[in-house]
Amino acid sequence: MADFGANNLDAFWMPFTPNRRFKAHPRMLASAKDMHYRTPEGREILDATSGLWCVNAGHDQPRIREAIQKQAAEMDYAPCFNMGHPLAFAFASQLAQVTPEGLDRIFFTNSGSESVDTALKIALAYHRARGKGTKTRLIGRERGYHGVGFGGISVGGIPKNRMYFGSLLTGVDHLPHTHGVAGNLFSKGEPEHGAHLADELERIVALHDASNIAAVIVEPVAGSTGVLIPPKGYLQRLRAICDKHDILLIFDEVITGFGRLGTPFAADRFGVTPDLICMAKGLTNAAVPCGAVAASGKIYDAMMEGADAPIELFHGYTYSAHPLACAAGIATLETYKEDDLFARAAGMESYWQEAIHSLRDARHVIDIRNLGLIGGIELEARPGAPTARALEVFETAFDAGLLIRVTADIIALSPPLIIEKSHVDQVVETLRGVLARVD
Ligand code: PMP
Repeated sequence: MADFGANNLDAFWMPFTPNRRFKAHPRMLASAKDMHYRTPEGREILDATSGLWCVNAGHDQPRIREAIQKQAAEMDYAPCFNMGHPLAFAFASQLAQVTPEGLDRIFFTNSGSESVDTALKIALAYHRARGKGTKTRLIGRERGYHGVGFGGISVGGIPKNRMYFGSLLTGVDHLPHTHGVAGNLFSKGEPEHGAHLADELERIVALHDASNIAAVIVEPVAGSTGVLIPPKGYLQRLRAICDKHDILLIFDEVITGFGRLGTPFAADRFGVTPDLICMAKGLTNAAVPCGAVAASGKIYDAMMEGADAPIELFHGYTYSAHPLACAAGIATLETYKEDDLFARAAGMESYWQEAIHSLRDARHVIDIRNLGLIGGIELEARPGAPTARALEVFETAFDAGLLIRVTADIIALSPPLIIEKSHVDQVVETLRGVLARVD
C-alpha cells in the first residue's frame, strides 16, 4: 500500500485536472472573503469566476455562514424518504417564489450532475405516466455540458467527456451548437444570427417521429464550453417546436440561475419558460453542496394521477434536502433578495460589457462575447498546441492575482454579483498585461 505523508499531494486524485502538472506547481487557496481568495502565503486573488460559477453572492456571506453553523448545532441530518423536516418544505416553497411562474414543484439533489440526471428521468417517467411510454428519445446539443453522470455525458456534447466511457445512453440525438455563425464575432449580448439552427429540431423530429421523443435539454447560455450565447430568437423557436410535438423542454440553468444574467433565471431573461429547470451552484452560494430540479405542476400532477401514474417518483438521494443545504439555501435566497443582487448584476452589465470588449485589440484575442455578468474571450490557439496558450494565461493570471477559468482556448469570466467597477477594471487590466506577456 502506498504510504503518503500527511501533507503529500499524491493521494488526492484531482477532478478535471492534469494531476501531474498541478502537483509539480501547486496553486492553493486557503481562505476567501467577498470578491477575494487568499493563498496560504497570504497573496490576495481577485475571483473573476465565482469559484466555479457558483459563489454568486460573494464569499463568506455572514447570513449563510451563521445559518449553517446554527443548523449544524441543531440537527445534523434527517432523511426525506417517507418523513421530512420543516426546513426542506420551507426551502422548497421559498425557491418556488423565485423560479419562473408555474415551475413550483421542487426536487432536491446534491449537484448539477444529479439535477440533470433527475430531470431526464422525470421527463421519461412523465410521458410513461401519461400512457405515452414510447416517448423516450432525449435530445442534447453539441458543445453542451450537463455534468458528468451517464445521462449528462450522453446528452452533453464534449467529446473528451464522452469518449472514455463506453456506449453511454442509447436513443440520444444532438442539435448543432450555435457558435461560429457568420456575422456574430465580437457580439455584445445576444448574437444577431443563428436562430434558424433551432429548426434542426424539426429535422430530428421528422427522422424519429415525435411519438418517440421525450425531451430536449439545453443550457440557455453554454458556459463550460466557452460562453456560447444563444442567437436572438433561438430559444423561443426551440420552445415553439417542443410545444408543437409534445416534447418537454429542459433548461440546464446550473450556471445561468440565480442572477448571473441579471434575472433570477435565464428563462426570465429570454422570456422562455421550460418545463423543467436544473439548478445547483448559486442555489446555496456553494457553501453546502445542493442542487434542485424545478418542475411544472403539469408534470408533478401527471406523476401523481396520470393514466399510468406510479404515484411516487422512484428516485432520490440520501442527501436530498439535507438540513445544512436547506439552511444554507434559505439564507442564500434571503441574501439575494435583501441585497438586491440580481438587480445589481443587471445594473453592472453595460459597464462589464464595455470593459470586456475593450480587450478586442489585446494580443491573441479573436473573439469576445458577453451576457449578464458572463464574459468569454477567445484566443487564437498556439499552432500545433491547442489549449496550451489558455492554460498559460490561466497560470500567469493566477500568479498576477486574478482567478479566471479557461476552457480550450477560451477565457470564461463569471464574477460574483457583488463586483464593483474597480474590480472590473482590475480584471481587464490584469488580463491585458497577462495576454501581452504570454506567447
Ligand atoms: N450543468 C451545467 C450547465 C454546468 O455548468 C455544470 C457544472 N459546471 C453542471 C451541469 C454540473 O454540475 P456539478 O459539477 O455540480 O455536478
